[in-house]
Amino acid sequence: MNYLSTRGDATPRKFCDILLEGLAPDGGLYLPDHYPRIDAARLAELRRVHAGQGYAALAFEILSLYIDDIPAADLKTICDKTYTAEVFGTREIVPLKKLEDGLYLEALSNGPTLAFKDMAMQLLGHLFEYELARRGEQLNILGATSGDTGSAAEYAMRGKRGIRVFMLSPHGRMSPFQQAQMFSLQDPNIHNIAVEGVFDDCQDIVKAVSNDLAFKARYKIGTVNSINWARLLAQVVYYFAGYFQATQSDGERVSFAVPSGNFGNVCAGHVARMMGLPIDRLVVATNENDVLDEFFRTGVYRVRGAADTHETSSPSMDISKASNFERFVFDLLGRDGAATRAMFHDALGTDGRFDLGSDARFADAAGRYGFISGKSTHADRLATIREVDQRHGVVIDTHTADGVKVARQHLRPGVPMIVLETALPIKFAATIEEALGRAPDRPARFEGIEALPRRVRVLPADAAGVKALVARECE
Ligand SMILES: *Cc1c(COP(=O)(O)O)cnc(C)c1O
Repeated sequence: MNYLSTRGDATPRKFCDILLEGLAPDGGLYLPDHYPRIDAARLAELRRVHAGQGYAALAFEILSLYIDDIPAADLKTICDKTYTAEVFGTREIVPLKKLEDGLYLEALSNGPTLAFKDMAMQLLGHLFEYELARRGEQLNILGATSGDTGSAAEYAMRGKRGIRVFMLSPHGRMSPFQQAQMFSLQDPNIHNIAVEGVFDDCQDIVKAVSNDLAFKARYKIGTVNSINWARLLAQVVYYFAGYFQATQSDGERVSFAVPSGNFGNVCAGHVARMMGLPIDRLVVATNENDVLDEFFRTGVYRVRGAADTHETSSPSMDISKASNFERFVFDLLGRDGAATRAMFHDALGTDGRFDLGSDARFADAAGRYGFISGKSTHADRLATIREVDQRHGVVIDTHTADGVKVARQHLRPGVPMIVLETALPIKFAATIEEALGRAPDRPARFEGIEALPRRVRVLPADAAGVKALVARECE
């Protein structure tokens, strides 16, 4: 399997060539040069593997289709180490919960940081450690977080050889639970940096440091952001696992509803569907930041400025542009790299928008690719959390509530709808209290984390101080 760029660079690259990379050199995103087809016999075989040997074995089968430059035995070991009941809380790893006939929740949030990002990030930690050891290299991961991504990255990379993490977060602005989750880590390779500023300041510092190419090369600076192909690939596996749990036989179809921000999660669903998994519809659920809903309704993709990006009660979906979206548009445009560049580089660069509404291929987004969308607001979120609690006795988080709300608008008789549960309610306790008048349950292992000793340094919002700290730690 070779990888190519969505903007046309077709230099053949293997999985491990792109594993530690961000964007392709031409500014595009990496995709496999084809999607391996799963025919009926193979699907039946994967169902047997999943039923008999479990999630890690299924992950190994799927990853093997895309990774041919890691020996099979090593890849198997990596999958077995990653997807354990100990790390993910249950033997099923992603258990399916029935809410009512035809409506399910797939639990993706029982990993170390209680959000679905652990599903991919935990694998990334093992893959990075393996590949860096093989090359005899080191990596310093520099990132900015407003919550979920940073903690998932830290819990995946803690204690890993050859890796340090420098994670910037806006001082005093994350929820108390999120701060405690990150700052209580005592591992020497994890560095929490609270920046005296807002999230945008943190991102600007990461950009400034990465744009200093000499510094970046000397200190082996890398990232783990959501455009990383390995993260997306890891997420493909739970679409198969969800399908197998919701169906008895491979003739059946299911739909998935996905709380979406950067389009990473639902893009993995697109990949699974392209491979031949019998997915009827992929329902993209957004919050008030409805960049994606607008596109799937109208064909207009319009990125927002900071002033038009709302702070909502499903904050992990508060995005102004969806960084993985280019991958789907590349497929929609018949994998035409020049046309994709014209949209994402030229049109977005000059107008901040493009319009495929009158392009004949736009109809394929729904027709051929199964995409449909909807949007949910703060009031919808509260009502949905209340309703699911009252009717089903299940407390869902704010992002999952956006998924349930939009899923209900797109139910079809005879087609099970699986809503991806992307976080546990304890991470967003204030909104749960607003909805239910009581605090959500806290898993036992998080009892009292706010009182643990903290390891964090507070720095002013400028790149020089961060660079100095990185340099010092690398001496
Ligand atoms: C990151 C995140 C999302 C959005 O996922 P994308 O892959 O960016 O679309 C949704 N919900 C939660 C809880 C998240 O952490």
